[in-house]
Order: sequence, then structure tokens, then C-alpha cells
Amino acid sequence: MSFTITILGSSSATPTSKRNPTGLLVNMNYKYFLVDCGEGTQMQLRKYRFKLQKIKHIFISHLHGDHFFGLIGLISTLHLLGRVEELHIYANEDLKEIIDLQLRVTATELVFPLIFHPTNHLTPEIVYEDDHHLIKSFPLNHRIPTTGFVFSEKDRLRKIRKDFLSREDVPIEELPKIKAGANYTNNDGKVYLNKDITAYPLKSRSFAFCSDTSYFEEAIESFRNVNLLYHEATFMQDMAEVAKEKFHSTAAEAALIATKAGAKELIIGHFSARYNNLEELLAEALEIFPTTRLAEDGDEFKIINDEVITLSSR
Ligand SMILES: [Zn+2]
Repeated sequence: MSFTITILGSSSATPTSKRNPTGLLVNMNYKYFLVDCGEGTQMQLRKYRFKLQKIKHIFISHLHGDHFFGLIGLISTLHLLGRVEELHIYANEDLKEIIDLQLRVTATELVFPLIFHPTNHLTPEIVYEDDHHLIKSFPLNHRIPTTGFVFSEKDRLRKIRKDFLSREDVPIEELPKIKAGANYTNNDGKVYLNKDITAYPLKSRSFAFCSDTSYFEEAIESFRNVNLLYHEATFMQDMAEVAKEKFHSTAAEAALIATKAGAKELIIGHFSARYNNLEELLAEALEIFPTTRLAEDGDEFKIINDEVITLSSR
């Protein structure tokens, strides 16, 4: 059961020779969700050997170019590769007009269904749900309408112990009840307590994405106790005024949000091109939140129960 986040771009508005604009790929149990799609995102996906056609859902936080200028290129490639499956895009409503215009002037009639879901930047909302996963959007505080996203696994049912099933001939209709926590009474009237015949399921995991935003405590309620928080850290605290003016955050502010949210781990990204040495930003965040890491292009973060491990594909 996999839950990994791969950083495709960690730069802010302008790319550097080492950092692409924003993009990351969330793999929840082999369902692939692309979050933001800055210029070069499809090349990054290629570089790290992801199969483009596996992506079925794309979430765009806001309509600044460094978060979506790669989208039409990716859509075009999926079209040229003869995609058949639906592609779902979740973004501010204006993006639909932009995509439609780009398709019209390039005389492109997509060979696959593109389904657009407008996001709500004023209030938290469920944007995606299946049997095991839930994705919500929530408002951030940026110059234009912006949403963050939180990706979570649903709580899993208890697992019935195999030794019990081999001992007792349990009718099939009883199985869901036991998984949901019920005791079991067999035909002879013997009662099995649920705790003796089931095992705890794996803990459900979660990941929240906050980019771009100024310091915004109102968002915290949407990702309280999250396993892993990605928070933008465009600047350092000595530029707090500039950060505020531009509706961005500092590394210290990202760490403060992680602390107040009770996040288990924090990754910071969306670094201004002015910083060559990211260790300074990391040090600033670490003073406030001790489990902070840098999100650099090619980094992969794997959530295993309560822990996060970094696997770099750089
Ligand atoms: Zn922005």
C-alpha cells in the first residue's frame, strides 16, 4: 500500500537551472494525482519515469503561470499518444476558458474526454472520493483565488484473523459486521469478542498541499494532524514584509503553520530563485519545527504509518 509524493518542481515564479516551477505527483495506493503543472512538468514526469497515461486527475491550486503553464503541453501529449480514458481537471473555473481557447486555436479535437471540475476558493469542499480515498480543497490566502488540497485515505475496516476463519465456518453475511467491529456468536452460542478475532487495520494516512499562500491560520482546520504537510516557503524571515506584500510565506511561517496544525512532518518548497543555498531556509524552519525537510526536484517522500522517509531519484 503505497503513499508517496514526488516533487517535480520546487521553484517559485521563475525556474532556475536546478529547480522547475511547481508540480508534484501524489501516488495513493497506485492511483496517481498530479498537483499543479508548471512549465516542464511533463518532462519531469518523463525524467522520473512515470507513465503519463496513468494520471487521471489533475489538481491546479491557482492560475499563476508557474502553476499551470505546463498543462496544455501535457494535455497535447496525452492526445497525441491516443489516450482513451477520461482526464479530470480540478481548478478555478477560468481555466476551462483558457484550455478551450488553446484547443480551438490549435485546431485540436481531443481524442479523450476532458472533464472539468471548478473548485471553490471560498470554502472547503470534497473534490474527489472513491471507496478508499478522499480529496478536499480548501481556501488559501493569495493574490488571486487559490486552493490547497488534502489527500487522505479513509479509515480502514478491521481485518478478520485467518486462524479464526479457519476454525469457524462464518456465514458470508457476518463478515462485514465483524470487520465493522461486531462480536460473533456461532451456532453453539459461543461468543467471540471482536478484539480476539480481528486485527487493527493500518492507520490511514494524509498529505496536505499549501502553495501559494501568505501566513494563513484559517486553513489549518482543513489539515489538522496531517502526516505530511507541504507548505510554500518562498522567502526567509528577513523578507517577511515582502512575503506579506506578495501573499507568500517565509520558512519560519511554514514551520509555525505545521506546528499549530499538529502536522507530523513538514516539507517546504516553492523557493524564490534568489536562494542558491536552501540549507538556510531549512535551518530557519528547523528552529521552529524539528521534522522539516526541503522539497527539491526529484525528491520522493513515502508515508509509512506515522513515518515519512525520503527517497531521492535525483
Ligand atoms: Zn502564485
